Amino acid sequence: MMTMFSTVAFLLVGSNNLIRNPDFELVDAKSKGPEGFVLAGSATRDYVGYTDENASYGVHLTAAKGNAGSVSQLVTGIDQKQGKWIKLTFRGRPEDGFLVEDDKLFIKMEFFSKAGKTPMDSAERLIYREVLRDRADFAINGNNLSNGASVWRTYEFEELLPFAEVDSVKVTVGFAKGAAKAEKFTSFFVDDFELIQNDSSTDGRVEPSSEPSEPAVKGREVKLGGYWSYLATPNEKVAFPLVVKQANSKQLLYRGSSIFAGTMSSVMKEGFMSYEGQIATKSTPLPDNLVITFTGNGTIQVDSKNIPNHPTARFPDNYGTQGYNPGYIGEQRMRMVFPVEPKKSDSAIAMTQGNANRALNMGPTGFAVNGVVFYNPFDAGRSDASRIMDRCCGHPSPDYMYHYHKYPICVNTPFADKGQGHSPVIGFGKDGFPVYGPYETNGVMAKDVTSNKLNDFNAHFDEQRGWHYHATPGKFPYMIGGYMGTVSNRRR
Ligand SMILES: [Zn+2]
Ligand SMILES: [Zn+2]
Repeated sequence: MMTMFSTVAFLLVGSNNLIRNPDFELVDAKSKGPEGFVLAGSATRDYVGYTDENASYGVHLTAAKGNAGSVSQLVTGIDQKQGKWIKLTFRGRPEDGFLVEDDKLFIKMEFFSKAGKTPMDSAERLIYREVLRDRADFAINGNNLSNGASVWRTYEFEELLPFAEVDSVKVTVGFAKGAAKAEKFTSFFVDDFELIQNDSSTDGRVEPSSEPSEPAVKGREVKLGGYWSYLATPNEKVAFPLVVKQANSKQLLYRGSSIFAGTMSSVMKEGFMSYEGQIATKSTPLPDNLVITFTGNGTIQVDSKNIPNHPTARFPDNYGTQGYNPGYIGEQRMRMVFPVEPKKSDSAIAMTQGNANRALNMGPTGFAVNGVVFYNPFDAGRSDASRIMDRCCGHPSPDYMYHYHKYPICVNTPFADKGQGHSPVIGFGKDGFPVYGPYETNGVMAKDVTSNKLNDFNAHFDEQRGWHYHATPGKFPYMIGGYMGTVSNRRR
């Protein structure tokens, strides 16, 4: 229960991004670089995608032999009353030819007092091994079953502010010594920086010098059934229907974690199609892309506009990299209803080869924490869909519904999955059972475990999580292998 209270404490304090210009959209008139950031060595502000991709601006850290490159920002005015733990997250995408020596791809935090003038301490985390492991573990996840590690994913680094005098932190992502052999595709793309202050560690570490003590409880936890609960603010009345949107997303907890923090809004990008059939000519924010309602009668209603919150390929695909998919990424009015407390069904059946027994329907089989729907592994005509997906493992259907057939690495969960323990929740099946990412324990994927193996539904049971599905990169059925529980078919 300690972790539960820690979660309670951090949720209602500091939650604002301290990074200026976190998405690199603003350009400094003088330096022509991204406003607020310092670029060094080979780093350049550029479009972080290929011509067939719908991406945005970020930074290329390009690794020619012997060079270095970094992007950093000095954040001043840190008030330690807002929390002593500080966490940097960003999205990164290593191109196939990005190679460095000595594992030196790093996230660094330098701590200062006197508004950045007096250095106090620094800490560094190396992340190149995560890149190498992704290349090994996810090779078959990418375009045409190759280069699956060249996708966006979240990297993070959390530290305790080391001294009471610290009022500034300089955060840097960079590499020291390039070792690229190729001429092209040698960059590490970075984007979407976020620096958050918390009053406890998000992964349960304790302040080394202090006695463990009961943290102040700043929220009132209201049980919603199953593994769900809601953290009410002191004067907040919780009544059904309880509607959760971006604004209160941090207050909704699943097993004590706010798994929807930052995932409920999206951006209607240029080239996407609105519900009314208009093609967007510029990118505009799309608030409440996902809305979750606890009805009070044992069900959860999920309403999704189904617009992905991560880079995608450009659709319709005129470049041929996505099998000339003619669909648009279109706004939906998608509704799913599932039980708060999923129950295993006695009549459940798992997919047989090719889903010949129709254990899973065509169309949505569940949804990811960013509101985008899961599909079974097959497209129309029962062809295995895994060859014609974009880099984030999605593509639109003939009715313009963007969907995932397999592990969507790009789903921006509030947590980075370092593969050092059990993966976080990435979504839910239509039967209400959770879908977790690929790892079971440190470096071991659920598809490879030797005890407590996944069953035909791609699920297993443990005391902490109950029954849960896993994403299994490269291994059929990739995500849900059939509904273990009862499914409501109501859909608008
Ligand atoms: Zn498909
Ligand atoms: Zn598991």
